[in-house]
Order: sequence, then C-alpha cells, then structure tokens
Amino acid sequence: MRLAPALVALSLVACASGPVPTAPAAPPPAAKTAVPSVQAPPPLKELALGEAAVRISGPASELTAACKDAVVRAHTGLDALKALPAPRDTVTTLSWYDDATAVINDLDFQAELARQSSPNAEMRKAGEDCDREIQALTTAIYQDRAVYDALSSLDLTGQDASTAWWMKRDLREFRRAGVDRDDATREKVRALNDEVVAIGQEFDRNILKGTRRVTFTPAELAGLPADFRKAHAPGPDGLVTLTTDYPDYHPFMAYARSSKAREKFSRAYNTRASPENIEVLSRLLAKRWELATTLGYTSWADYVTENKMIGTGRAASEFIERITAASTERSAKELARVLARERKDIPSTKQVLSWDYGYYSDRVKIEQYRFDAKAARPYFEFDRVLQGVLDVSGRLFDLSYRPVTGATVWDKEVQVYDVIAGSSFGDRAGQTLGRIYVDLHPRENKFKHAAQYGVISGQAGHRLPESALLCNLPRSGELMEYDDVRTLFHEFGHLVHHILGGNTRWAANSGVRNEWDFVEAPSQMLEEWMRDPGVLQTFAREAKTGKPIPTKMVKQLRAADEFGKGVDVRQQMFLAATSLHFHDRDPAKIELTPYFADIQSRYSLFPYVPGTTFYTAFGHLNGYSAVYYTYMWSKVIAKDLFTAFKSAGMFDPATAQRYRKDILEPGGGKPAAELVADFLGRPYDFRAYEAWLREGDSPVRNAPRGGPSAAARTVR
Ligand SMILES: [Zn+2]
Repeated sequence: MRLAPALVALSLVACASGPVPTAPAAPPPAAKTAVPSVQAPPPLKELALGEAAVRISGPASELTAACKDAVVRAHTGLDALKALPAPRDTVTTLSWYDDATAVINDLDFQAELARQSSPNAEMRKAGEDCDREIQALTTAIYQDRAVYDALSSLDLTGQDASTAWWMKRDLREFRRAGVDRDDATREKVRALNDEVVAIGQEFDRNILKGTRRVTFTPAELAGLPADFRKAHAPGPDGLVTLTTDYPDYHPFMAYARSSKAREKFSRAYNTRASPENIEVLSRLLAKRWELATTLGYTSWADYVTENKMIGTGRAASEFIERITAASTERSAKELARVLARERKDIPSTKQVLSWDYGYYSDRVKIEQYRFDAKAARPYFEFDRVLQGVLDVSGRLFDLSYRPVTGATVWDKEVQVYDVIAGSSFGDRAGQTLGRIYVDLHPRENKFKHAAQYGVISGQAGHRLPESALLCNLPRSGELMEYDDVRTLFHEFGHLVHHILGGNTRWAANSGVRNEWDFVEAPSQMLEEWMRDPGVLQTFAREAKTGKPIPTKMVKQLRAADEFGKGVDVRQQMFLAATSLHFHDRDPAKIELTPYFADIQSRYSLFPYVPGTTFYTAFGHLNGYSAVYYTYMWSKVIAKDLFTAFKSAGMFDPATAQRYRKDILEPGGGKPAAELVADFLGRPYDFRAYEAWLREGDSPVRNAPRGGPSAAARTVR
C-alpha cells in the first residue's frame, strides 16, 4: 500500500491497508471548450456498466488515451472553477471540483488495476505511466493556491453534513501540502515529498535485493514435510540452500526440529537489507521529520496521524500502551504453555526465544488442540466457497449477485456479477447497484496477495460503482485452506463496502473513503461470519457427499486459531511501537539499532538478539511510516460493531439493515467515529475487543494427545 494524498487516495484495499478514493467519470472533448461563462460542468458522458473493464482489457493505446483525456478534463474543470466570478456559487464550484478530481481518481483506479492484473506487458506499462502522471497532477492540485482559495471561500451554509465533512477533510490536505505557505516553503515541501518517495523506494528496493541464502545440512531439515525436502535437494556440496523468502523461511521456522538451525536462519532473516538500510532509513526519517516540522507539526507522527481517526501521535502511543497492557496476561499464559512444551524436549530451557516460539507453539496446537488444517480442506472446494460468500453477504445485506456473461474482461478467469438490491432498499429495490469483478486465481505477472480495487466510484444519479478483487486462490474443483476462506470473506467486506457506499451525493465521498484506520473494520467484521459454525456449515460441504463440516472440527479450527493470539497481539504492538516511535522524535538524536533494541526490550516478549536489525527489512516503515497501529485499531472497532450481531443474531434483518445504512452506505461522507456511534447508539469502546482477547484460552476438552504430525500439514 502506498501512502498517497487523499485526493488520489489509495487505489486498492489490501489486508491491512488504506482507504480508497473516488470520482465521477470522464466527459470528453466538449469539456475542453469550457469557458468562464459556463456555470456548471457540462453533462458527463457517463461510462456505462462494463466500459471501464473494456478499458482495462486493452489495448494499451486506449488506456493511455483515456488517461490523457482525464488529465485534460481535470485541468479544464479546475480552470473553469477558478474562472467563476466571485462570490462563487457553492454547488457549481463543488461540482466542477468533484468532477475534476473524480475523473482522475477513476482513471487511477483503472491504471492501478491494469498494472496489477493485466496479462499484457504493454497494458501494465501503460497503467504505470498513467498512475505516475496522475500522482504528479494530484500533488500539483493540492499546491494550487487558486483552487484552495476558491474552495475555502465557499459559503457552506445550508449544505449537508457530508459536503461540510468533505471540504474540511480536503482543505486540510491542501494545507498539508503547504498550499497556504510562501512560495519557498511550498517548493520545499514539494521537494521533500519527492525525496521521501524516492528514499522510500530505495528502502523497498534494498529489501527486495536483501534476500539472504543460508545453507543447511540435510539433517538440519529434519521435521520439514517430505514435499518441502524433496523440493530442496542438497547441491553438489551436500548442502541444502534456502532463502529468507517466505516460502522457505516460514515452514522452516514452524517445522524444523533443530533449534540451532532455526537460530541460524532467524539471524540471517533478521539482518536482511542490513547494514545498507540503516543509512537509508536514517535519511528517510530525517526527511520526514523536516517535512513535518517545516509545516509546523511537532513530529512526523503528529503529521501522519492528523487525518486518521486517532488524530495525534500521542493518542497512537496511548493506544499501543493500552493494547499492550490488555494482552499482557494472556500472552504470558500462552508463553508459559509454550515454555512448558519446550522443556519436555530441552529441560534446561529458561526462556522461549524468538526462533523457538513458532516451532513450539505449533507443537501445542497440534498436540493439545488437535489442530489439523488438512482434514478441513475437503470441505472448502473453491466453487462452493465462492458461492458461500455470495450467499452469506447477499443474505446479510439483502443483495443478489447476477452473473454477467459475455462481458469484456482482462483475463478469461475473471467472473463478473451485477449486484442487485433486495426489497429492503425501498425505491431502489430490484435495481442494479453496481458491478463486481472477481479475479481470484494466480497467474503470471499478477498481483501476488489479496486486495480489493476500485474500478469506478459510484455517485448518486450519475454512475454506478464498480470494483474488483484480485486474489490468488485455488481454482474450481481444488481445495482451499481455512485461511483462504477467511481471506475471501475479508476482501468481500471491502468489495461490498465500495458498492454499497457508491451512491453518495459527491464522488469524493463514495465507497471506502473513510479514515485509513477505519477501513479494515467492515472487512474484519465480515470474517466473523465464516468463523461461525452455523454459517460455515451452510456452504462448507464435502464435495462428493455434500456433508457439512462437522461442528467439532470448526471448533477445533477456531480454538487452534485462537491459541497464540495474545502473543500475536503483543508482537503486533511491538511492530506498531517501532513504527510510531521511530517517527515521534528527532531522528538526529537516535542511533537506530540501539534504539530499536530498547523498543524491543520494552514491547516484545522475546529478547533482542545482538547483531540483528529486523527493522532494516520492515517494509511497512515505508508504506505505513508511523501508522502500523491502524490494523489493530480497525480490529477494535470491528469487534465492537460485531456486538450488535452477537446479541441480535448473525442475520437479524433489522440489525443488518442498520449496519448497511449507518456504516456502509454513507461511504466517506461522515467521520468514521460518527458512523460507528450512529450504528451502536454510543461511541465505540474497547470492551468487546478486550473480551475477545480473553476468549477461548483453554484447549478443546478431552482432546486425545498426539494428533497429526507436522508433516501431514500443507506447506504454502
Ligand atoms: Zn483488508
């Protein structure tokens, strides 16, 4: 996830990621003739459903042409806005502005999707070029004093709250770009922003290049599944070479029996991009500090949290302390159980070390919770699971998904559905609300993780929202993992948010345009439906017999899933503290490695290992800078939102409709805290999250000892 100004906000929502932008569609050449006498934007030639997907499908020359048109349209709109005679008519001015920004935001959506999904190299290149052009224009708009003056002089009396909130938010982004400063300061801010981007890219590149190779004797691979050992045969020297990339590192740390071998691998992993990124990160922190203080903020942490729900660096720090404290007791209990298990193998062990935790917590799950991911897979055939998520979200939000055949898409495996409103939508019942594209299987040159992308931002009375999912799941007839099912539900949460939030007055408020630290709440919420045994059994059925997944198995999956969550939360807060505290003080006064060691000693359950520099390959220090806390913050809210369904029932129609109307349909038209308060009837709080932290901390009763061996588990 990149950090971008809010105007062209983030164009995808991945797990733990940021908000998405919005925009109206591109009206073509007629607009270029706009003159000051024009009092409102000329009617847009709205894209019909599916036309954006045609653009994403190529050829590249058409995407490039559309991108250029959008840039022209945006300039035309901004020129017209500036030329309106003062005092400017509020609605006319806002319409021009919304139109100008919307057209480039939508193009950026499409460019980003082409870049991440197109099987065609020219299309990916066209997407990249368009993205860069729009980013540059965005920066220029936010530094345009005349646009700022026009917007800030508007009389908003009589406008609705969503309009006022949009202007409040957006005018702040102009100020954060230095628009109201003298020329020299504005230029300095622009230059610093460019430097921050360039140094951030250098940091990322070093991580990509920083993969280390480590050699092991075949005996050191003892404990790893047969397919892993087969895929990693010894070389001519008799040694096995592994890399610190995830597919080698994660299974090794979970399964390899030799603590010494795990230690060796862990030390290599935790010195990736070291020492080179020590210097790069120092420069990055220094430039961020300079940028923030030039604009009058006390720190980068204060600058970057200002437009989030959390508001200040201090509040972020308090949040981290609070969650750390809340997870202390549970994590200590879990760690004690892992230590007891380790002592069975090595009686002299005094403390669980970081490279031993993964291995021994897995032993606890397997031996004490009978965790058996493999046994669950026959219940998760892809087609059934996809139908399951459509049925569950359809029932919950009163939607149906109508398959669209023959639509032009960028790859033959992309499935297309129109989203149809149910009877609870009043006037809109039976109408098409938008279109979704599900592109769920891996292929060459496609995005490697899971994320939701905008295609079109909807706007009431203008155009319908469209959105896409890019995932890397098994294909029809193949079996999914429990975690894959969770991923699909999570991403569908973002997808539905984009569609249901896509009928706002202004495109600028459409869809997932909330504060960054809120956007993961609706997607984390939807995960609760796949955790529920009753809901899971409606679609998780054995392919041949149609038998639903046994309740006992669902409970075991959940219980095993829950073990270690206290430790995970503590570790997440250690990372969040690293992210924040690297940015809330003058970096000139910090020596990074000793400072990091100090943070680790205060927040982590595992002692710092001298000589290691985990932070040199902590990629989120670029993309998230100080705000790694956001994912956990969203989770606190998700757990609170879910309390309403917990008491009323998973599919209670009244609760589900309120959720839809209060949380999803307003899009970004209100501060997230207000959305939540509207739904809950009170401000959000931590009680549900803290209760979740306490839940499920004992093994399944009467579970026989033993259970499947590690080798029986799938390695991914
Ligand atoms: Zn997400």
